[in-house]
Amino acid sequence: MQLEQLGEFALIDLIKKDTINVGDSVVIGIGDDAAVLKPTPGSLQLVTTDMLVEKVHFDLLTSSAWQLGYKAIGVNLSDIAAMGGVPRHVVIAIALPKHLPVGFVVSLYDGMKEICREFGVNIVGGDTVSNPHGLVINVTVLGEIEPDKLQLRSGASVGELVVVTGTLGDSGCGLDLLMQGDWQQYDFAVPLVTRHLVPKPQVLQGPMLAALGSTSMNDISDGLASEVNELARASHVGMRIYSNLIPLSTQLQDAAPVLGKSALHYALYGGEDYQLVFTIAPEQFKVLAQVDIGAHLTVIGEVTDQSQGILLVAEDGCTSPLEAKGYNHFR
Ligand code: ADP
Ligand code: MG
Repeated sequence: MQLEQLGEFALIDLIKKDTINVGDSVVIGIGDDAAVLKPTPGSLQLVTTDMLVEKVHFDLLTSSAWQLGYKAIGVNLSDIAAMGGVPRHVVIAIALPKHLPVGFVVSLYDGMKEICREFGVNIVGGDTVSNPHGLVINVTVLGEIEPDKLQLRSGASVGELVVVTGTLGDSGCGLDLLMQGDWQQYDFAVPLVTRHLVPKPQVLQGPMLAALGSTSMNDISDGLASEVNELARASHVGMRIYSNLIPLSTQLQDAAPVLGKSALHYALYGGEDYQLVFTIAPEQFKVLAQVDIGAHLTVIGEVTDQSQGILLVAEDGCTSPLEAKGYNHFR
């Protein structure tokens, strides 16, 4: 059945089930003119939104509806984690071509509901419209944070370490493999393509790092180079990032030469890793390193005086400015 046969209200009825995972903060979810929520007393409210447009952010030739749903929520949860906060509720606005099969939208929501269930997040509302020009998904997340845990980009100080979670560059490389088309022939391709289509945001790690002493944090959505620049500029400091310390997966190191690029290039300038980059005092990092936060941590550099600039240190010790050359929509 296609959406034009089902209609808007029957579709919302279909979507409505299994949307509340942690009900004690929801007075009214889907079904009235607005959701009614109970914030935790003493917490600050975090709000973030991200829009995904067909052919700009995703292609239905390479992504399934389920994967798209999972990722659309995941990229937003990642922004809450990067503030050190805990995501609580999402609101989802979708524009859909009316010839789309109903099953596609059900799958899309199954992917969304899966990641919401994983992290105890409620779907409390949204909007549904038709659009002849393709699919658009806009997700807004509401999160919470205790005031003293807040991770602003401006919190880094001279002498601190720069640390990342996980490995970098996999997602950008996975995207190149998908664009190239014949990736199935390579053993290394599946984890890379999966990292692109179904990124795993560091939802639990963000608040844990904040509680364990990180001082500034960003999620890595536009490539490490761009994120490091944002932290350094907001904090009025310099940074030295050591290229040989940047964590690269073996799959990325196998794949990059086949694609004619270096693994380091993907780590610095490829997008959509959704790992975290943060700063922390060296003595505090020693404490953090003893705790299992469910992610691998790698020190990749240090915070310096602003006058030193934002530098990439090559293996031979030569330095060059680390330019923010990530993805930029209007360039
Ligand atoms: P209104 O006309 O007041 O905007 P709607 O008919 O658009 O109400 O929506 C009815 C209810 O369904 C509201 O609670 C709204 O938040 C929810 N809703 C609508 N579309 C979606 C969607 N795509 N995902 C989740 N909830 C939705
Ligand atoms: Mg509406």
